[in-house]
Amino acid sequence: MKKESNKIEKIVSLCKRRGFVFPSSEIYGGLGGIYDYGHYGTLLKNNIRDAWWRHMVQLRDDVVGLDSAIFMHPTTWKASGHIDSFDDPQIDCRKCKNRMRADHILESFEISADKTSLEFINTELNKLKESGKLKCESCGSKDLTEAKRFSLMVKSNLGSPTDELKEENVVYLRPETCGGIYLEYKNTLDSTRMKLPFGIAQIGKAFRNEIVARQFVFRTREFEQMELQYFLHPSQMKEKYEMWRNLRWQWYLEYGIDKADIHWYKHEKLAHYATDAYDIEYNFKFLDGFKEIEGIHARGDWDLSQHSKFSGIDLSYFDEVKKEKFIPHIMETSVGLNRLFLMFIDKAYEEEEVDGETRTVLKLDKRLAPIKIAIFPLLKNKPDLVKKAKEIYDNLKQSYMCEFDDNGNIGKRYRRQDEIGTPYCVTVDFETIEKDSSVTVRDRDSMKQDRVKIDELGKYFGENLK
Ligand code: ATP
Repeated sequence: MKKESNKIEKIVSLCKRRGFVFPSSEIYGGLGGIYDYGHYGTLLKNNIRDAWWRHMVQLRDDVVGLDSAIFMHPTTWKASGHIDSFDDPQIDCRKCKNRMRADHILESFEISADKTSLEFINTELNKLKESGKLKCESCGSKDLTEAKRFSLMVKSNLGSPTDELKEENVVYLRPETCGGIYLEYKNTLDSTRMKLPFGIAQIGKAFRNEIVARQFVFRTREFEQMELQYFLHPSQMKEKYEMWRNLRWQWYLEYGIDKADIHWYKHEKLAHYATDAYDIEYNFKFLDGFKEIEGIHARGDWDLSQHSKFSGIDLSYFDEVKKEKFIPHIMETSVGLNRLFLMFIDKAYEEEEVDGETRTVLKLDKRLAPIKIAIFPLLKNKPDLVKKAKEIYDNLKQSYMCEFDDNGNIGKRYRRQDEIGTPYCVTVDFETIEKDSSVTVRDRDSMKQDRVKIDELGKYFGENLK
């Protein structure tokens, strides 16, 4: 697979320059694996989030929403197994202190280390060491430590009477959002008219002390997940699992991702409670190829059984018709919002030769574009043009995210909007004022211009920005 290494540099640079993504705390030298989203980044991220919510909740009768807290009772993570085993194998370079994921190193030698023991990992690493192949990814030194387990859980002393982080006063920042869904399963069932099968969807922040977080927003220590937990009778799993796999696949195609750029990865080694697990992987060419974007997993009754056991609260479901009592099984879809953000920018980013110059354009799906319409007066120093353009802007911004720009020549203004993916630019010129109250509407992708009457702009955008 050819690595497009300079594409990621171009994307990172565009994101910073145009205010999509900034490294967090930059004035203090930054904080590894944490990012802030600027104006356009926030808008793009919100539009992706809304596209997911529309598909997963708004258009469905069998899914309801939830926004649970980031902090939960620490026993939540004991019951789920996170405290005992949510970790990654880490090795360090003794020379340059570089940290690496041992499982990722083995995978680069085509040795699968998914859900394997530390003993297996160290045996394989030793074989590579003996053959002289194992080197630090950063400085090339062969002086590496053994692999050891590194917990991904992030600790806090929230609500503790002391600022010491002792085991008994630790509260964790959630490493995934689904924990809150399991804990609110019963409240949701009791407070809505939902019957099995039904789902609870949630979008929110999650935190993981990732060993390596150097791939821009692909892997960060603070990120957002969008998860659906779909509760059902085990006899329904096969059908519903297929249904959700199909629905999620279609969502990617609907928002412009090419079939050739995504594929299914089937987990051969399953967690002990799971019956099936597939990931959708996207071809991040600048990250060496296909990487996980979304997991779609059949989880059995593990989650609710564990929380019943640890809380002492019966989380079983009673089917009134069949008079059957059982712990619901769970089908889950889990996707990282920030990874989707990177995927959509990667897919949209293009450089084209236009009139001997390079135009950088984000060909985003119009529904995801941060700004939908930019409005320009042809000249900044003609009050009539500026007044009319402002009027149009004030009107359109009631319905769409718009931007007014009168700075520089029209060509430069088009380029600025192309770079942030704005699908339409409206220009007020002399014909508008002197002739027929029409404006030019320029299309981002074809760069063609239509002449549209001001009165008809509402209808025009109503049809074109659906
Ligand atoms: P990976 O193998 O990449 O570490 P994972 O298998 O640990 O991911 P899950 O626990 O299944 O990931 O999380 C579900 C989704 O959450 C992932 O598919 C990914 O999109 C997102 N995600 C997980 N960890 C991160 C992270 N550190 N930064 C950004 N997104 C993440």
